[in-house]
Amino acid sequence: MTPLPRSTDLFVIGGGPAGLATALAARRRGLDVTLADSSVPPIDKACGEGIMPDGLAAARSLGLDLNAAGGHPFRGIRFRDRESAVEAAFPNGQGLGLRRTALHRLMVDQAIDAGVRLAWGVRVSGIAPEGVIADDRLVRARWIAGADGGNSPVRRWAGLDASHHESRRFGFRRHYAVAPWSQYMEIHWGDGCQLYITPIASTEVCVVLISRDHRLRLEDALPGFPEVERRLSAAGESNPQRGGVTASRRLKAVYRGNVALVGDASGSVDAITGEGLCLLFQQSVALAAALEAGDLSLYQAAHRRIGRRPEFLAGLMLLLDRRGGLRSRAIRALAGRPNLFARILAMHTGELSTTDFLSNGLALGWRMLTL
Ligand SMILES: Cc1cc2nc3c(=O)[nH]c(=O)nc-3n(C[C@H](O)[C@H](O)[C@H](O)COP(=O)(O)OP(=O)(O)OC[C@H]3O[C@@H](n4cnc5c(N)ncnc54)[C@H](O)[C@@H]3O)c2cc1C
Repeated sequence: MTPLPRSTDLFVIGGGPAGLATALAARRRGLDVTLADSSVPPIDKACGEGIMPDGLAAARSLGLDLNAAGGHPFRGIRFRDRESAVEAAFPNGQGLGLRRTALHRLMVDQAIDAGVRLAWGVRVSGIAPEGVIADDRLVRARWIAGADGGNSPVRRWAGLDASHHESRRFGFRRHYAVAPWSQYMEIHWGDGCQLYITPIASTEVCVVLISRDHRLRLEDALPGFPEVERRLSAAGESNPQRGGVTASRRLKAVYRGNVALVGDASGSVDAITGEGLCLLFQQSVALAAALEAGDLSLYQAAHRRIGRRPEFLAGLMLLLDRRGGLRSRAIRALAGRPNLFARILAMHTGELSTTDFLSNGLALGWRMLTL
């Protein structure tokens, strides 16, 4: 394990995807970077493991070719409820289903190659004006990045906990050893919960259950999705169920003094959007640019801009979660107009403007009224 230095330009707290992406982006701008995480790699986490084409492009801007880590491509998104289904391909490129541990391994290798100082198994217990308290001693740091996840202690220590709105849902993930039956990432809508299914290998799919009920598990929910249950019954379960909280949270500020938050620590959108990784790749690039300029207010502005579209989409998806009647009408309406769904998907991946989206929204509204 790399020993902690006396001082560093940037101390990154947390070595999940956000911490590693920030460390990489900052190293590429010439900063001396130290990263500490209380866990040891490869770090796993409950995640749908789907990366949209815009997420892959954002990773490329950090020099990360995620396709090199393996995984399985998917060509678009399919929505399904009890009565109807609609699907559309991404307008450009494909998404990638990639196991969290494979993503982590690739990012760690890249960070080592880039010269990031990595300290695994090291818990950070506090921050001070001059730096970070890690392993019970002070490491001097000009800048501190809090990449310590949704429950971020750094956010609390820096006094950045105030948020505009906040809601939580619960996700449970399991891998199943079965060949993907679809070229799409599928979202199955049920009453009060969703299943989302990502192909991650030619012989494996990742299944995530998301709901507001922290007691609901995959085995309880599956009978409500007979088609999925039938397909999965042929598979062996390849690992135990792993749970996590997915929060919709927008912070009032993402930096104070020399401390900036990134990734889930800096706020998040509901997991059903599949945008978490894309967001944090984009934030890392923006944060590194702001560090180089010596002005974290630039990061604040970029962070707000980056979050706008996913937050809007998350709001729509959560509305569909809460309003069953509206949801079945919307899916039925879209099933009758697959081109409309394709345009909504293009907006999801940032290839259509919000104005285009609003005109599509009006078209959808009209279609629902005339069904
Ligand atoms: C159920 C579910 C499904 C999801 N599905 C998708 C999906 O399909 N696609 C997608 O793009 N996103 C998805 N997401 C979102 C995505 O998983 C997150 O956005 C992403 O994991 C956030 O990464 P992070 O690095 O910010 O945080 P984390 O991955 O939580 O990493 C934080 C790290 O900080 C470390 N840490 C914490 N405190 C300390 C400390 N005091 N000292 C040292 N280290 C510390 C932890 O050990 C951890 O390794 C999903 C999320 C959930 C919950």
